[in-house]
Amino acid sequence: MRGDATRGLILVRVSMDAVTSGTGHAPVDGGTDAARPRTFHIRTFGCQMNEHDSERLAGALVADGLVGTDDMESADVVVFNTCCIRENADNKFYGHLGNLKALRESRPDMQIAVGGCLAQMDKEKIQERAGHVDVVFGTHNLTSAPELLRRAATDGPLMEILDEPVPFGEPTAADQQTAALAAVRDLPYAAWVTIQMGCDNSCAYCIVPAVRGPEVSRPVDDLVAEVTELSRRGVTEVTLLGQNVNSYGRDITRRSPLFGDLLRAVGAVEGIRRIRFTSPHPKDLRPEVIEAMADTPEVCNHLHLPLQSGSDPILAAMRRGYTAERYLDRLAAARDAVDDLAVTTDLIVGFPGESEDDFERTLEVAAEAEFDSAYTFVFSPRPGTRAASMVDRFLPVSVTAERMERLRAVVERSALRRHRARVGRIEEVVVEGPSKREPSVTTGRTGQNKLVHFVAPAGRVIPSGSFALVAVTDAARHHLTGDLVEVTARPSYRVRIPVSAG
Ligand code: SF4
Repeated sequence: MRGDATRGLILVRVSMDAVTSGTGHAPVDGGTDAARPRTFHIRTFGCQMNEHDSERLAGALVADGLVGTDDMESADVVVFNTCCIRENADNKFYGHLGNLKALRESRPDMQIAVGGCLAQMDKEKIQERAGHVDVVFGTHNLTSAPELLRRAATDGPLMEILDEPVPFGEPTAADQQTAALAAVRDLPYAAWVTIQMGCDNSCAYCIVPAVRGPEVSRPVDDLVAEVTELSRRGVTEVTLLGQNVNSYGRDITRRSPLFGDLLRAVGAVEGIRRIRFTSPHPKDLRPEVIEAMADTPEVCNHLHLPLQSGSDPILAAMRRGYTAERYLDRLAAARDAVDDLAVTTDLIVGFPGESEDDFERTLEVAAEAEFDSAYTFVFSPRPGTRAASMVDRFLPVSVTAERMERLRAVVERSALRRHRARVGRIEEVVVEGPSKREPSVTTGRTGQNKLVHFVAPAGRVIPSGSFALVAVTDAARHHLTGDLVEVTARPSYRVRIPVSAG
């Protein structure tokens, strides 16, 4: 199946009757005005993977002659890059899509495209709910979007969804590398790099394997070439993205994962000073990866290791493939090997059938793990997942809300304790820019991924991407505060082109 890139292609020509009456599309090659290039606006929902997909999509549209704009209302092409992982993301998306109906009707030359996870899963529903959409594309053919938009301008609405990713080695897979290199990145000094698409696991609550397909790793040489090019453009920090980065390369070698080797290879790229990655799966966190983290100074001393639950029966029902004891053992091994390691996690409250005992075990494991912070979620069923069918074991909202408060208290206690332990230290930060709430305050991020607010001397603007030393003077649950000691390195990037997120 994987060797045949054309199998599984659904190409649907949507009836013109479904679109607004009597509208022809202006030619996309010349634009509506010969002197003005067509503009695009991308609205992104969901995770970092989606945000980076939008950067690659922006690069493909720019290569096709379009120009990005922050103003959705005036854009000639509006693309929604959708998410179905979080419940609110799809509600928000359909709201935005509905709001554009009148605008689309008043501007016959405008085009609307919908891509990403929700498009992959919900294709018929999008057609039903939004006849004003011109193009629907899935997670595996993002780079086809410019061509689909061009074809839709003359042929009418189109939908193209591939059932599976195009394997590397297929001619069209080369598009992935081209798209990665051409991506219009949100930040000039830090970049996401997708190392792997899809997931081979089957966690009961997760829709990712259904919408992103099986794991497909990008070749090491392509990734090193991409990071080298990013460094040449002034990027000093990369975040390696995958659904399960620890199993990176398993599909290439058929033997052992290559993630440790990849960390070392990326660390050897001149100019790269910080490497982050997300997310590793606890069951696949092997000693070689911990060793590579410890041996590669560019790898940040931060590990995001999703626990999800501290109860073994619940972990089994979730199909996570580890026990709480195994999780804690691996965490201890990572903390022993990597100096001054910060650990963050994801936790789900109220998975179907979670008893009070199960939940208390989660509180105990969270307390023992001493997390620096945690993303805590109340279970919400995603249609199409195994957990969504466990209706008879769903918990009442009153129970999950109360448990969530108790869990937050435990996590925030350890976060505050760990943050207070930083007071008095000198931390190296990468400057992000003025604080959103208080522009006179500058924010930066430590290697442990902690946000630090500090005040620069009056009138001094420190460019984002600079490296600086900050003396930490105070700590809160979600950030540190401090005083600037000195700026140690200025950024070397040149251009910044924003891509908006929803
Ligand atoms: Fe989903 Fe589990 Fe794969 Fe993560 S590891 S993407 S939770 S199936």
